[in-house]
Amino acid sequence: MLTMAPKGTRDILPDEIYKWYYVEEKFREVANRFGFREIRIPVFEHTELFQRGVGDTTDIVQKEMYTFNDKGGRSITLRPEGTAGVVRSYIQNGMSSWPQPVKLFYNITAYRYENVQKGRYREFHQFGVELFGSADPGADAEVISLLHLYFNELGIKNLKLNINSIGCPVCREKYNKILKEYLGIRLGKLCETCRDRFNRNPMRILDCKIESCKNELVNAPALLDHICEDCAMHFDKVREKLITMDIPFSIDKGIVRGLDYYTRTVFEFVSENIGSQGTVCGGGRYDGLVEACGGSPTPGIGFGLGIERLLLEMDSQNIEVPLPEGPDIFIGFIGEKAEKLAESIALKLRTAGIPCEKDIMGRSVKSQMKYANKINARFAIILGDSEVESGKAELKNMSTGETKDIHIDTIVDRLLKYKQGNKNE
Ligand code: ATP
Ligand code: MG
Repeated sequence: MLTMAPKGTRDILPDEIYKWYYVEEKFREVANRFGFREIRIPVFEHTELFQRGVGDTTDIVQKEMYTFNDKGGRSITLRPEGTAGVVRSYIQNGMSSWPQPVKLFYNITAYRYENVQKGRYREFHQFGVELFGSADPGADAEVISLLHLYFNELGIKNLKLNINSIGCPVCREKYNKILKEYLGIRLGKLCETCRDRFNRNPMRILDCKIESCKNELVNAPALLDHICEDCAMHFDKVREKLITMDIPFSIDKGIVRGLDYYTRTVFEFVSENIGSQGTVCGGGRYDGLVEACGGSPTPGIGFGLGIERLLLEMDSQNIEVPLPEGPDIFIGFIGEKAEKLAESIALKLRTAGIPCEKDIMGRSVKSQMKYANKINARFAIILGDSEVESGKAELKNMSTGETKDIHIDTIVDRLLKYKQGNKNE
């Protein structure tokens, strides 16, 4: 137990962190380009927020939440997603009085008690955006185009965009009657969870992952065929805008999305490479959510993008992420005087912004050089008594093996020049 992390969690080790930095930095940068600003929200919230905000007929709330009582007796839940917390923050911080629309993005961990598989963990990471205050189809198109551009700039191909409209409460009420007629005669063949959802939220049944339920649902009526005129017009406009922006998409009448609060546009970016956990990103409009959580009526739209699945997809497409560079210089030494000199040079280099490593293992010169090689240092220098006396040393280029006699005093300047692109120095 002591030496095993809990099931469904994993460490991100230094050897892979560069990939995380890369997709994180790119996400931040693209989101900024679209005018989204970062928000950081707590890891835990009151359980009630998710019951209301995610919806208590969803898989997340019914089966997957990490909920506990804190020492003050409050029911607390680790966030299973980001939207509910951001909506809570929107209301709590009076963001409805900010210039509209309010455009926020986040990079969070999320927690769900799940069956652990490739691409499905109990602690995972999501990028997301939430855009509040615009009911315009242009907002839907903007959020989708942000994702399209992001995937493009990462060099990801073959992520399929599927979109659907799940209407508004008005069309859904009518549709629910039609759906219940279809489901009613099949109830006996559906799982217990589905039967429970039949009266509470029949549409949720369409999202059941159990094979025998899925088989019963193949010919179920689709909400898209029953949406009201306003919702149909909204959906037409979204489609038009995607076409104008050259963003390929398919309509998938089967997308219901896992969360209760979605209205109108819903969408997914799906991969064919990473198997059953193929949905890299899911999102949609949630025009009723802010009000449901206690704010004034405010339209909104957003998405959540699974970072583990994104990285799996990039790996499976052999997308190369630039490898991090080793330190610019390794400073080796032998003897006490040389050690002092090495320490003062290392400090000067680091102060000047130059990554530098120095022996702190008391190794022989030979082992120091081996280590310099292993950590991919660009240059190395070894100091001994004669270098301390003469003020000169040999600077070795570790990739070519070339050496150069230099004045030790010039080392900071040389490396600065080198870093500024003057790589012949
Ligand atoms: P799924 O149908 O695969 O369970 P979901 O509908 O529950 O996904 P969302 O709640 O929409 O997923 O979350 C958005 C994204 O977060 C997903 O598209 C996926 O990339 C990622 N994600 C969701 N759950 C997990 C998990 N347990 N482990 C890793 N990534 C996840
Ligand atoms: Mg899920």
